[in-house]
Amino acid sequence: MIAVRNIRLCTKDCLCLFVCPTGATNTDNGQIDPDRCLAACRACVDACPSGAISKVPLNYPPQQPKLPGTLQAMNQLLDSRLAQERAADAMLAQAQTAIQRQFAQAMKMSLRVVAEDVLRESGYMLPQGQPARAFLNSLLDSPQPAGFPREAVERLLALLG
Ligand code: SF4
Ligand code: SF4
Repeated sequence: MIAVRNIRLCTKDCLCLFVCPTGATNTDNGQIDPDRCLAACRACVDACPSGAISKVPLNYPPQQPKLPGTLQAMNQLLDSRLAQERAADAMLAQAQTAIQRQFAQAMKMSLRVVAEDVLRESGYMLPQGQPARAFLNSLLDSPQPAGFPREAVERLLALLG
């Protein structure tokens, strides 16, 4: 287990810096140094007044398999949410008033959150998951429109290992 800090919740420069026995909490980039964090310690987690630090496992268990029918239903749901998001985006681009813009923006964001949830549940949002790698490979193996970021996909695949 290692400690991780949620930067958004951190109010900076307080208790974890003082309680950590190894100095792992005191880094230049705001992240806790995994090489100095002690597996059996949770002093910073208990000390943080903002709930910004958690201990997470170094190795996650394999993902539970999903039935093909479940994956198919999730893909259909995802397709419909993406189509709706594109429609909301088009409305946003043509909005005439502030209230129209606000409404379309809220719709777009809400649909995006649902789509991301579906992707995550399908296993695609876990970078270490096989579905994510298979999806990226399928993008490289099939024809893509002009401007497709092939190099970025290849780099992401390489970094995922
Ligand atoms: S868990 Fe302990 S060793 Fe690890 S960063 Fe927090 S205080 Fe430091
Ligand atoms: S104790 Fe919590 S809020 Fe304070 S610096 Fe550490 S992570 Fe941030």
